[in-house]
Amino acid sequence: MSVLTDLIYAGSNAVAGLTEGAVNDAIAKFGGDAKVAFPDTAYFLPTIYAATGVKVTKLSDLPACVGVLKSLISNKEDLGEALNAGLATAVGAEIIEALKYVASKNPYENESGIGFVPDPIIRSLGVPLVTGDIPGVAVVIGKAENAAELIPVVKDYQSKGILTFVIGDAIEQIAEGGVKMGLEFRVVPLGHDVTAVIHVVTVAIRAALIFGNVQPGDLAGLLKYTKERVPAFVNTFGALSEVVVSAGAGAIALGFPVIVDVDLGENQVPGALESVCDHGLTAKRSLELRNIKVKIKELPIHVAFASAFEGEIIRRPDMHAEITSDKNPAFELVIMRDQAEVEDHKITIIGEDIGPDAPVNMALGTIVEVSGSKMQADFEPVIERKIHHWFNYMEGVMHTGQRNLIRIRISNDAYEKGVRLKDFGEVIYGMIMDEFSSVVDKCQITLITEPSKVKDAMEKIANPRYDARDERLMNMNDESVDRFYTCILCQSFAPSHCCVVTPERLGLCGAVSWLDAKATKELTPAGPCQPIMKEGCIDEKLGIYESVNKTVEEATHGAVSNVTLYSIMVDPMTSCGCFECICGIMPEANGVVIVNREYKGLTPTGMTFGELASMTGGGVQTPGFMGHGRHFISSKKFISAEGGIGRIVWMPKELKDDVAVRLNKAAKELYGIDNFTDMICDETISVESDGVLNFLQEKGHPALGYDPIM
Ligand code: SF4
Ligand code: ZN
Repeated sequence: MSVLTDLIYAGSNAVAGLTEGAVNDAIAKFGGDAKVAFPDTAYFLPTIYAATGVKVTKLSDLPACVGVLKSLISNKEDLGEALNAGLATAVGAEIIEALKYVASKNPYENESGIGFVPDPIIRSLGVPLVTGDIPGVAVVIGKAENAAELIPVVKDYQSKGILTFVIGDAIEQIAEGGVKMGLEFRVVPLGHDVTAVIHVVTVAIRAALIFGNVQPGDLAGLLKYTKERVPAFVNTFGALSEVVVSAGAGAIALGFPVIVDVDLGENQVPGALESVCDHGLTAKRSLELRNIKVKIKELPIHVAFASAFEGEIIRRPDMHAEITSDKNPAFELVIMRDQAEVEDHKITIIGEDIGPDAPVNMALGTIVEVSGSKMQADFEPVIERKIHHWFNYMEGVMHTGQRNLIRIRISNDAYEKGVRLKDFGEVIYGMIMDEFSSVVDKCQITLITEPSKVKDAMEKIANPRYDARDERLMNMNDESVDRFYTCILCQSFAPSHCCVVTPERLGLCGAVSWLDAKATKELTPAGPCQPIMKEGCIDEKLGIYESVNKTVEEATHGAVSNVTLYSIMVDPMTSCGCFECICGIMPEANGVVIVNREYKGLTPTGMTFGELASMTGGGVQTPGFMGHGRHFISSKKFISAEGGIGRIVWMPKELKDDVAVRLNKAAKELYGIDNFTDMICDETISVESDGVLNFLQEKGHPALGYDPIM
């Protein structure tokens, strides 16, 4: 027998033994009826569920799973068979990790890792993965012989935006190396035990269930999905134990190549299992094997620039300077000019630069003037909103808000490294020329810090421009345009999904408005957003158009051929999985509940966000359930076929407060109701069906008087 298969089987058999013992012990201790579940998932023990369709809920379900696990270990001298044994290790690891959650509610509380990754986090990763913002997923496991060689590898991934999961002593090694860790930094510690690797494996597996519409029990479909659509790879550091090798075999079975830093000699399997002993080449080879191409933007600035820094928070004590509209005039404006008015790459600073005496409260007006033969005024806000992301990508800089309500913080560290206003100008210039070069030919930037001049420019230039845009948006509705747009960006994960984006219905991720789609079409003519001319209206109320049906059918390769724009009950739009909110009907209240991804509790449907979300997705139409963006909640087209926003009976309080101003305005205009949100129940009032009904009756909620919703 080859050394490799030998090692895999030894590891798998060891894990099988451990798993069986652990299951028996747990049953003896807690009883067969004790509940088994990972936190906040609708997919049970995801590996077992996806591979076999079995829904494990209690300890007595597990012995049968151990039986399946053992049957995967044939001990036959054949690499394919040995990879199956690797899957057995994955199943064993899943059971062992699940047992930790039987013994304790939060077994990772005092660990440096986070353990199980809840469903909502996976859903939130959908958009960054499809846009390439997160170009790949790295799994770093083990303990480096020399920590100094591990750290640059992880930093390299971080600078490329790659999401890195870390298992084993490497966690401490990386932390000691000063790498910022946490989901917001794209370096996520999972746990110390090798079995914690399952928590990244189930991320890939649930992606197949959430986005890919892979059916539980379809093992072949699952393996095909993870291999083709989840751009993950594994790097092991240090000596290989049998268990690590067999877990690695499981990774290979899922289609994830494994790079080890010890010499495996002839035991290497080109493309799947390779030795790279020079750590300077680890990242390069890993990316090559997964065909991950990273566009690195080199900008002439004083700090690192990477999407991995987007979530960085700068607290007051770490802050060198702050620009906040609360205290000083501040705004950001992108404005279209004639070609002759713009001098390319000119960066002008009016007033004092960021100074040496911390903390400094500054005013800042940022005026970005662009020109181009294909530039349109409609693209101004699309470019302008990018400033928020770009500034956040700067290490040591935090940005929130837009237009004339912004806050920027610059850390002491960034200041010391040399960050001044010119860096901000260079970032804007470099990124506009990179991302918008098909519409912008020339770009000049003016940064004003003198408070009176900022105020003046805000009042004379920026505010009138914002007002003009708002007016245009207000007058823009589904009736006033001649075309809608498709967005099929999410097809890389949800192959049969297509969003239809209209002025009154943005993409369900919340990130693509009609204007964004229009700009995308201009920027990448053959890209994900294609126009649908509004033709052949079949039913105005439901929003059925011949042209929409035809385009969606083409875009989904025949998977979806009838779609309505305004109904949740009749051929609703499909959901990919990365939606901001899920809407589901609550029949007894004759209305709908809406839940946002961030809400962790139960809803009056008896389900959590994750459970509701699992009712639809993967590009499937599920009448009664619909994913959508936050902004859509105040749209007059929101399920207008069923009566519109008047059907909303319950939302989490935070969401209700967030949309209140716009939703109340729409309700007033549609139904003449004042403060409509006061009629909508939330979790502080009740999450029980009866409690909600009582509340609605008390408030005279309009939904109670509507036609039955089903
Ligand atoms: Fe995905 Fe739809 Fe958003 Fe496009 S608009 S990125 S398809 S969710
Ligand atoms: Zn999506």
